[in-house]
Amino acid sequence: MAVFNDEQKLDILKDLISIKSVNDNEKEVATYIQDLFAKHDIKAELTNINGNRANLVAEIGHGKPVLGLTGHMDVVDPGNLDDWNSDPFKLTEKDGKLYGRGVSDMKSGLAAMVITMIELHQQGLPKQGTIRLMATLGEEVGEEGSAFMQKDGYMNDVDGLIIGEPTGFNESYAQKGSMDIKFTSKGKTSHSSMPELGFNAIDPLMNLLNEATDKFRNDPRPHDSMGPLVFNTTTIKGGTQVNSIPDSAEAEVNVRMIPEYQNDEVVKVLNELVDKYNQQGAHIAMEMVMNEGPVDGDKDNLLIQLTTELLHKYTKGEVVYLKELFADINSTMQKYQNGDIMIVVSPGITDASNLIKGKSAKVPFIVAGPGNLTSHQVNEELSKQMYYDYIEMYQKLTIQFLEKVDVDDTIA
Ligand SMILES: [Zn+2]
Repeated sequence: MAVFNDEQKLDILKDLISIKSVNDNEKEVATYIQDLFAKHDIKAELTNINGNRANLVAEIGHGKPVLGLTGHMDVVDPGNLDDWNSDPFKLTEKDGKLYGRGVSDMKSGLAAMVITMIELHQQGLPKQGTIRLMATLGEEVGEEGSAFMQKDGYMNDVDGLIIGEPTGFNESYAQKGSMDIKFTSKGKTSHSSMPELGFNAIDPLMNLLNEATDKFRNDPRPHDSMGPLVFNTTTIKGGTQVNSIPDSAEAEVNVRMIPEYQNDEVVKVLNELVDKYNQQGAHIAMEMVMNEGPVDGDKDNLLIQLTTELLHKYTKGEVVYLKELFADINSTMQKYQNGDIMIVVSPGITDASNLIKGKSAKVPFIVAGPGNLTSHQVNEELSKQMYYDYIEMYQKLTIQFLEKVDVDDTIA
């Protein structure tokens, strides 16, 4: 018996969208969810409260096995408001589609998980086992909330994890790592006609970045699980005037790691390059800004199996496995149009980078949630039907998982 009718389900999403949690204010989202849970006899706790920010943890059921559900409460900046056809913080419906910031990434996924908890609890489910919702702060910038969640021990006894990030009717079982590194190069300014009197800060930095790009992009080792490591210089600036030798320059790089080429080794290579250029007279410093490792999973894990089975009800396409989602972008977009169920390595990182840390690779993990490729864009949208479908799907998936998972299998 459903607790909520369609209109009420939509109202919950509407309320969540109206809370401007742009890289902040997650506490207001958490408090809203806590109040909603309280009305339905579910206790939720706010943790890591700091100013306007907080994580939220809530449970239904009892004992083992434990299934974790997670979603982030923050959204990205709406960008230029003039480019939106509607107010990004007012859920707007048009032709079966819902518009608003976070409607895809990922307040619909979060709302679907919250509704799932309430509707199951109302039916006295689960009979055996626990479903734990972990709603996180700050996923979009630095993934701090999930790091707290993991440190606080909420993942210790978890036997499976569902991440409700937007995949549409696709699924992900693994993800590359992600690392942000900043380089700062110092020099000495002089007139550009007399460079001998100064030291050009751009030269060694540019050479270092070129050498690093070459090295990482041409790495010969096999990369069977997730495709190649990805290295890119993503920002660069330096100098102040065209006829002066620049005395400072900085650049940022982003690296996407794979199991065959991990974070520590990338750092080692970059440190060696910094040392090499500094020995030649440069003054380059390297600073780690973000450091998340790859998450390797089993593409046939129990959550993937059950989800694939359940998704057939909502989409008619074929099941296809893709290691590199955009290795052939036209073919991927075609599969997307066909409604194929793509089982992929996630191109981006999620809170799994922190949450799965230290867990056995045998712990089933999936990213599957309502949404699409309009995440982070203006006029972010979601099919209203997909939102309802996911509410139904999560309720079946969670219960089926708790019934079928073998706890002995998930111990590290
Ligand atoms: Zn997200």
